[in-house]
Amino acid sequence: MGKRLVIIGNGMAATRLVRDLTAMAPGAYEITIIGNEPRPAYNRVLLSSLLAEDVTEADLSLQNEAWWQARSVTRITGCQATGIDRAARVVTLSDGKTLAYDRLVLATGSHAIRLPLPGADLPGVMTFRTIEDVANMRHVAKAGTPAIVIGGGLLGLEAAHGLAKAGACVTVIHVMDRLMERQLDLTAADLLRRELAARGITVRLEANSQTIFGNSRVEGLRLATGEEIPAEILVMAVGIRPAAELAKATGLETNRGILVDDALTTSDPLISAIGECAEHRGIAYGLVEPAYEQARVLASHLAGQSAQYEGSLLATNLKVSGVSLFSAGDFIGASGTEALVFHDRGLRIYKKLILQPTEQGTVLAGCVLYGDTADGLWYLELIRGQTLIESMRSDLIFGRALAEQKAA
Ligand SMILES: Cc1cc2nc3c(=O)[nH]c(=O)nc-3n(C[C@H](O)[C@H](O)[C@H](O)COP(=O)(O)OP(=O)(O)OC[C@H]3O[C@@H](n4cnc5c(N)ncnc54)[C@H](O)[C@@H]3O)c2cc1C
Repeated sequence: MGKRLVIIGNGMAATRLVRDLTAMAPGAYEITIIGNEPRPAYNRVLLSSLLAEDVTEADLSLQNEAWWQARSVTRITGCQATGIDRAARVVTLSDGKTLAYDRLVLATGSHAIRLPLPGADLPGVMTFRTIEDVANMRHVAKAGTPAIVIGGGLLGLEAAHGLAKAGACVTVIHVMDRLMERQLDLTAADLLRRELAARGITVRLEANSQTIFGNSRVEGLRLATGEEIPAEILVMAVGIRPAAELAKATGLETNRGILVDDALTTSDPLISAIGECAEHRGIAYGLVEPAYEQARVLASHLAGQSAQYEGSLLATNLKVSGVSLFSAGDFIGASGTEALVFHDRGLRIYKKLILQPTEQGTVLAGCVLYGDTADGLWYLELIRGQTLIESMRSDLIFGRALAEQKAA
């Protein structure tokens, strides 16, 4: 019999951990995974595509029944882990049962933040995190339905796109001066805003939400200026909060997320945390790639191999069909950096590369691409590898094919 490994949270990080661990050390652990959603893990990233009806629910499946069975994983679905007794090494479940562990992994993800606005609990006000949320949005959004999305970040815009595709008249309310300010500079954000406008999505920037009004369900949003915007559906996409409450209640060290070291170990050596619930070197990531990198490192540790997680470099794509957008690393340009910019207004193509001088030579520190993202992953490779770019500098902005050919 292997050691008992209990994983709390059956999401994307947990599934990847099971995949990597069972490949590295088959049979070393007797794995039990507890999930509070009514179904096993699915590809949450594709929820936007599901909302936009670009994929079906079946396409979201991460692993089928046979896959889990082949790894002898015990899955408990629709059940919340409600307590951890660290001294006794036991997890308590919402159905009253208990589970003993030798090693415990927290992979509880995040909660969608709900702004504490008056009226936020009215029916028709929703968040965007689960399959049920998508079903709720699709149920209400019909041709001509007035809809509001609060939040002009990645998730908000993907929600707006999905609702607009269903025929809803969508207004995006964003408090900042540009869309996706964490991924885009002003020029790229403005190109994006124009593209959304052409699709009938109204974007209101520097707009402060004050009150959600309605009698028995949402009827609209009042801005701080007093202006009222009607809505039959209001989606809040204003960010996420790591689901760290269980860890906190059990006395593990937490900040925004559950604090972990480079081995993904929490303040209890028998408990690890990965994915959106974990905070590593001050960062709680909200994307799937860091969760996967963390899962791989943790799998190595649990398999008795050494590995370090040193943080992830973020790259973002927007899943709005017909809009190509890619951003990675430092896309604004810290002091001491230099920007290479290509902007073809007619073709609506914009590329900005940030060059950083180092002692070894010049490297790429970040990029933002709009309209033509074909070279995004190559730029990401250059950023990650800290590749010296002097020999291809003159062609770098035109992409891999030209730059590598000339440099050769
Ligand atoms: C609409 C949408 C679009 C996205 N698009 C992208 C994208 O384009 N690119 C990208 O990189 N990322 C994207 N993300 C983010 C990505 O989905 C997450 O980064 C990823 O799912 C994180 O994996 P996780 O396992 O940490 O969390 P989750 O996948 O959320 O899994 C955590 C699971 O744990 C469960 N749980 C929590 N507490 C308990 C408990 N006490 N007991 C039992 N179960 C519990 C939760 O209900 C959940 O099922 C998107 C997210 C959303 C919602």
